[in-house]
Amino acid sequence: MYQVKDNDVEKYTDLQSTNTSCEEINIQKNKGLNYENCSNCKINCSLQKNKEELAVKFTKRAIEDVKSGKKQKINAIWLEISGCFGEVISLLDAKDPDVLYLLKEFVNLNYFGSICGDSGEIAFERILQTLNTDYVFIICGAVPLKDNGLYTTIATYKGRKITAMEGVKTIAQNAKYIITVGTCASYGGPTAARPNLSEAVSVKEFLKRDDVILIPGCPANPVWTMGILGYLTSYGVPELDSDGRPKAYYGHTIHDNCSRRRFFDAGIFAKKFGDEECMFKLGCQGPMTYAYCPISRWNGTENWPIRDNTNCIGCAGPKFPDGNEPFVRYGGV
Ligand code: SF4
Repeated sequence: MYQVKDNDVEKYTDLQSTNTSCEEINIQKNKGLNYENCSNCKINCSLQKNKEELAVKFTKRAIEDVKSGKKQKINAIWLEISGCFGEVISLLDAKDPDVLYLLKEFVNLNYFGSICGDSGEIAFERILQTLNTDYVFIICGAVPLKDNGLYTTIATYKGRKITAMEGVKTIAQNAKYIITVGTCASYGGPTAARPNLSEAVSVKEFLKRDDVILIPGCPANPVWTMGILGYLTSYGVPELDSDGRPKAYYGHTIHDNCSRRRFFDAGIFAKKFGDEECMFKLGCQGPMTYAYCPISRWNGTENWPIRDNTNCIGCAGPKFPDGNEPFVRYGGV
């Protein structure tokens, strides 16, 4: 194990939450880091359990409200523009609820480019027909501006190419809510990374609006996306931070809730990937990254990057990826 000897850690101590991630951290600290008995923040920690309930609470409430007729299913348009398709893969892997539940019971997803049964002009008309209703506009990907947006088109309609610029502007105009899913849509992300040949920008920057709800992450976890859709259905706009991110999912850093936090607090760091200690010295950006990954985890499993021995690379942050490089520091120095 690598024992830290410099004050590298101290500059981040002010970022630590007073709300420690797991009561077991303190138990283990009191035991002198006899962490072998620790359940690794999985099942037995009551705080962890409460947060898990929070993650699915919004969705379950919305499902009940729709079923009982208390709330109407909300119409939705899910548009993918310039990105990598990761948000869709992430959504298709959703477990609680899964994507079929989303489509059948939860929202009227009138248009979803990747899994829409229709194609071409008929598919585009599904967007047009939704514009006169109450709908939520969900967007993945950044908006390329170069050459008046010609680098990404979403349809050819009546012989005319509809650019992402035009599509986003048109659909956003009457939307009841606008949600950006993923870091590209939320902050520009990899699509807007150097050298950014298409001059892509985030949706919020493009629309110049303050009411956009951001769900960043590369990709965003479907639990967060479904949770926000659920909250919108039952209650309306959730409490947001100054960027527009829901505090429920972005109110704490990865570091606040990390299962390796007890090592960080004790100044014990991994020397190489695969070691079980804190990966701060290997470049972990958990202390600077606000996201819910340690709680919601992924695909209905217990796994998430840090549990899989990969440090946080800050993919949900506003500067990802250019501002987060290098992603790793080999050798633990
Ligand atoms: S692995 Fe990263 S997020 Fe976890 S305690 Fe260490 S620095 Fe914090």
